[in-house]
Amino acid sequence: MPFSDLRGQERTAALLGRFLAKGRIPSAMVFHGPEGVGKTMMALEFARALLCSERPMDPLGGCGACGPCASTAKRAHPDLRVIDSQYQATLREEDPAKQKTLRVDTLRHLRRDMELGSMLGSWKVAVIAAAHTMETAGASVLLKIIEEPPPKTLWILVASRKESLPATVRSRCFLVPFAPLPAAIIRDILLERGVEERQASTLSELCDGSASRALELHEAGLPAPMLDPFDAPEGLPRELYLARAKVELSLFCLEQSLRLKIRSGGVGYRLAAPVLRSIDRLRRDLRANADPATILTLAHLETENL
Ligand SMILES: [Zn+2]
Repeated sequence: MPFSDLRGQERTAALLGRFLAKGRIPSAMVFHGPEGVGKTMMALEFARALLCSERPMDPLGGCGACGPCASTAKRAHPDLRVIDSQYQATLREEDPAKQKTLRVDTLRHLRRDMELGSMLGSWKVAVIAAAHTMETAGASVLLKIIEEPPPKTLWILVASRKESLPATVRSRCFLVPFAPLPAAIIRDILLERGVEERQASTLSELCDGSASRALELHEAGLPAPMLDPFDAPEGLPRELYLARAKVELSLFCLEQSLRLKIRSGGVGYRLAAPVLRSIDRLRRDLRANADPATILTLAHLETENL
């Protein structure tokens, strides 16, 4: 799928298409916007447009059929690096789940690799997922190469919060914004994944424009039917970290449902505001290691009459 076909991000695709049409690619870009709206997918598709051997630099994207296009789609092109928790875990011989930050050593390793330039004589592209988790010292490592980039190298930093990137890095990158996805598009994505129609409609409204969040809620069996608050924890997983993750999602659901009710006029803002504040407080308590079952009960008690 060429990047120009990525649903819900037509404006961003048009902007990227102009870089290709002009043949002027910035050495570093930040793709920023909410989680689960297609930033990494777009980054990979943009890389494919650069690496495609049949229609290189086509403003609509790679041909999708040549060898380089096929290997880019599999993230296996020799001139493409995708830096995510898996990449760092392999480098450090650690568990992927333990990679909470983007380590400065990972960036050093990547920089040396990028300095070698393209193996096939075309472009070399690094896509850094969750770039906003970069360690502070990573900024100077990146700056050195962004400021004097080897020819035909591109860095794409993918970040859900561009404010979390060091300002020095941000100011030297071309910022490419991504919007939340419209509910209708998310609904279609869910239907294609086999989610039942009513559930797809509900989730597409609840998920705040994030397709990955909608899928996450679906997998967790949310939104849950309204239960007695004291029965709500019954379906929680026994492992604490899984229970915590599910309660975090449940809080998100309760909060979003309330916001939708406010928007549709079903609940007055003055009545809802203190409940929203309580949910926020419960979320902070949960993250500070409070018991997930208790938090879930308290959250249901807060919202049961609204
Ligand atoms: Zn191609």
